[in-house]
Amino acid sequence: MTAGSMRHLYIHVPFCARRCSYCDFAISVRNDTPIDDYVDALRLELDRQDASHWLLDTIYLGGGTPSRLGESVGDVLRLVRDRVSIAADAEITIEANPDDVTRAVADAWVRDGVNRVSLGSQSFDPEVLQWMHRTHSAEQIGSAFTTLRDAGIRNISLDLIFALPESLHRNWHADVDRVLELQPEHISLYGLTVEPHTPLSRWLGRGEVTEASEERYESDFMLAHQQLGDAGFEHYEVSNFARQDRRSRHNSSYWTGASYAGIGPSAHSFDGAVRSWNVAAYADWERRLRSGDAIVAESETLTGENRLSERVYLGLRTTDGLPASDAEIRLARPWQEAGWAEIRNRTIVLTATGFLRLDALAASLTLAGSR
Ligand code: SF4
Repeated sequence: MTAGSMRHLYIHVPFCARRCSYCDFAISVRNDTPIDDYVDALRLELDRQDASHWLLDTIYLGGGTPSRLGESVGDVLRLVRDRVSIAADAEITIEANPDDVTRAVADAWVRDGVNRVSLGSQSFDPEVLQWMHRTHSAEQIGSAFTTLRDAGIRNISLDLIFALPESLHRNWHADVDRVLELQPEHISLYGLTVEPHTPLSRWLGRGEVTEASEERYESDFMLAHQQLGDAGFEHYEVSNFARQDRRSRHNSSYWTGASYAGIGPSAHSFDGAVRSWNVAAYADWERRLRSGDAIVAESETLTGENRLSERVYLGLRTTDGLPASDAEIRLARPWQEAGWAEIRNRTIVLTATGFLRLDALAASLTLAGSR
């Protein structure tokens, strides 16, 4: 890879006001976000990069809760602009929590080049939001959405979590309807998973809550596939739905195996051959930058086997599909008969029921390919 081929930049902003009950991300829970220290540390990290020949097509501020930076998002983008070329039509996304979105902040984001917002909503049910330890109300989702639109953001994604414990009596159909009423361009859906060391895993351990069944997971997933499809959304990736020409360009780059640079604590980078990731803890990352120490925690060079499994897994997870060999097409024929896949122009494309079996199907192709 040459330095000039880098087109995608991920910036990890680790701060959150509170930890959500299901979250095990590398975050730093703070009442007061140390914005100046963070931006200054990012500057040090960017100065370590050989970035002068990058031409960025996408920039993604993820977290954590990047909206905790408020109007200082502009300072972060200026750091990048001062060092790196950014394409005129670049997609610049920020993840935001509804309670951080004010008109002044949204105006500042637009002025500084943000043109896409991924608004964390998760549910419109007040009891569910409370159970999840979310910091916002259901009303704040709608008002943040309207504020972003009024400020000129024409590309908004909303996300929801499905497969919640039955005891919450969550009305999944109603939540999907509420999202559709807002008319976003993009929607992401994630099944609730229980990660170790989270409040949710402790509740489960104490028997206070029971995980949703596999049947519930599948029925929620298929119901949303139907509802969103009827409303004109393309189910273009396992967890993602978009209106025409509104796929996430940044995340799509990951799914095509493109190179990307990541900065910030725990951020991953990939240069086409080696994947590396920064130390996860904010304080450790910042200290190392200031003292001149290395910030890469680990790296791995992709083996032939890694590449084979990534090609299969990434290919199957979007509706662009997996360009397949004769042997792979033969293996996928039974999937076609089961309704899990279509085979078009020598490309295997999973259906929604196939997406539900992605891991198993990808594993069987990978295994056959490695023999
Ligand atoms: S806001 Fe996002 S990153 Fe922060 S705790 Fe909640 S789920 Fe995790």
